[in-house]
Amino acid sequence: MFNKILIANRGEIAIRIIRTCKRLGVGTVAVFSEADARSIYIREADEAVFLGPARAKDSYLVKEKLIESALAHQCEAIHPGYGFLSENAEFAGMVAQAGLVFIGPTASAIAILGDKTASKDLAIQAGVPVVPGFTNTISLLEEAQRAADQIGYPVLLKPAAGGGGKGMRIVFSEKELEDNLKACRQETMKAFGDDAIFMERYIVRPRHVEMQILADHYGNVVYLGERECSIQRRYQKIIEETPSMAVDGALRERMGKTACDLALKAGYANAGTVEFIMDQEGNFYFIEMNTRLQVEHPVTEMVTGLDLVELQLRMAVGEALPFGQQDITVKGWAIEARICAEDPRRDFYPSTGIITRYTAPRGRNLRVDTGIEAGSVVSVYYDSLLAKVVAWGETREEARKVLVYALNGYHIEGLATNVDFVNAILNHPAFVNGELSTDFIEAHFENGHVKLAPPFERIHLMSIAATLVYHNRQAQIRESLKPMAAHVGGVYTPKEYTPYVVKGENDILDLRLQVDSNPNAWSIWVNDTVYNVVTPDFEFYRRRLKLQINGEPHVFRLQYHGNFIWAAFCGAARIFEIYSPREWALARYMPTVEKRLKSNQLECPMPGLIVDIRVQKGDRVYKGQELVIIEAMKMESAVASPRDGEIEDVVVKQGQAVEMGNILVVFKG
Ligand code: ADP
Ligand code: ADP
Ligand code: MG
Repeated sequence: MFNKILIANRGEIAIRIIRTCKRLGVGTVAVFSEADARSIYIREADEAVFLGPARAKDSYLVKEKLIESALAHQCEAIHPGYGFLSENAEFAGMVAQAGLVFIGPTASAIAILGDKTASKDLAIQAGVPVVPGFTNTISLLEEAQRAADQIGYPVLLKPAAGGGGKGMRIVFSEKELEDNLKACRQETMKAFGDDAIFMERYIVRPRHVEMQILADHYGNVVYLGERECSIQRRYQKIIEETPSMAVDGALRERMGKTACDLALKAGYANAGTVEFIMDQEGNFYFIEMNTRLQVEHPVTEMVTGLDLVELQLRMAVGEALPFGQQDITVKGWAIEARICAEDPRRDFYPSTGIITRYTAPRGRNLRVDTGIEAGSVVSVYYDSLLAKVVAWGETREEARKVLVYALNGYHIEGLATNVDFVNAILNHPAFVNGELSTDFIEAHFENGHVKLAPPFERIHLMSIAATLVYHNRQAQIRESLKPMAAHVGGVYTPKEYTPYVVKGENDILDLRLQVDSNPNAWSIWVNDTVYNVVTPDFEFYRRRLKLQINGEPHVFRLQYHGNFIWAAFCGAARIFEIYSPREWALARYMPTVEKRLKSNQLECPMPGLIVDIRVQKGDRVYKGQELVIIEAMKMESAVASPRDGEIEDVVVKQGQAVEMGNILVVFKG
């Protein structure tokens, strides 16, 4: 085995590689830019080398500097991780030239497989089915028209250099061809520095299914099973799982053998992934090969029990594969969710900042690969991936439940993340039923929001959690206890019951809380449905509340602001307004939009920040029209017009903080 290696990467994947190295007794040298001086992975590594300024092209992409550092620190090999230089043939060649081992395939294998048209030609030679189309590059409109006519619409224009889904364009008809060709060439030039594009059939509503392979230097190749990565946004994977519901034993064997054939044909050694697209009839077609460790490799590790990084190191050092195809067994199911610093409400724009509060999920059958902690700074310079949460179960449904529970309790504060978005996907009935395709998100989501309303039971559970926290807080105030010293169940003397009125998004719920003889057990009525709720060792800590409801353990994320409680659960987020019956009687005049209109002045329904004003003085508006958007407790809510009419005056400004009851706009007459 190697004595010491350099890891030419950062963040979660650097930590992932270090973990295996530690176990194998391999020393590690990490590298870092100015932006990463305080990152966790630096601490985890045995040594660290400073590369340069934050921008990747001045640090993580400086080939000479990486190789020099490896040599200076007596490393024998370089692990490139994924992204950055991992699929850079020139770098792999330079590493070998310097007398170091590149932990990955040879430069020539990377070169041929890195080009989508060359690899497609190679696949054809290896007898691998490919997407119908042409591998010659297209530059003229006439060429494109001829090709599209032969393939049949819809067609896909693809950059040969490709990667990250950039530049790809779907063309549905001839009249869309010219514009798309132009746009595709421009984007391709911008992203990859050359404008070679080619055309293939666009497979409608496909699944993305890929095969993990492993090859040694002696012609042994095995496949470790498939991963389904159909949940994508803009051609980028978000949720991955293995096995795939669309693949049975016979198909797995065919795809696996096909992938191995391609690897052999390419003279491939080390770990790699052959990506296929699968149409609705179950036909699969090669799309590309990734010549590196994939982001989603943990799901394969969870079901095979193998350590892919260890195997990469063993192949690189020249060991033969320690097992044959028949020795590989797959147990259970694994699902991974990618947690990214991006804001689903703002078109998934990357979010940056300091992580001010951080509680990562932990538990059985759960693996969290991450490179962040409280205090970490997420910058604009690198990938937005913060963490990968990976769950295992005997069955798909078990794995899904473990993952949902984990995400319910994954609290990241300080910047926007997609935690609730991916959780909403995992909770969507179509996902539960395994009805997957690469346009899943387009079909079921709009502006980052799930189209389907959550089932009423989910709202009930959320209202219970919110009310318990509110109830506890009231008791704490009454008894002047220090917040953290209180245990919900312990604070009360049981009495008949405590009633609350809970105003949700569209409904008003009556809740009744009653402590049972056991002070940690409650009967809680939501309207007429009773739930048995246990607050085991009451935990409302770091914005998370654990409850057992009707025997099922759940965790909610909650935040209070007076009698408003924000709650997130299973991908849904809601703000509940909680009142005692007496408060409700007094507040009767306020809660509904209509009642917030007092002598033509529209009052603000909740405290927050004005993020958008959609009307101006003199506008005619209709009842229900969105006038002002308020951000309160991480959510945006629209204040709708309570009536038809004309706006006499807009009192608030964008960016202004408002309290409940502040005047927003004034109506005429
Ligand atoms: P990248 O290098 O960006 O990963 P890929 O060729 O792997 O590019 O394609 C990325 C994604 O684009 C695929 O996972 C799939 O969702 C979609 N895609 C690629 N080729 C096709 C095709 N011919 N038809 C339909 N979708 C495709
Ligand atoms: P942490 O240790 O994560 O900062 P604590 O639970 O110790 O969180 O609470 C710190 C302070 O934050 C407390 O004084 C409490 O008033 C406030 N706080 C705790 N939980 C919430 C919440 N869910 N919403 C709003 N404020 C909270
Ligand atoms: Mg790909």
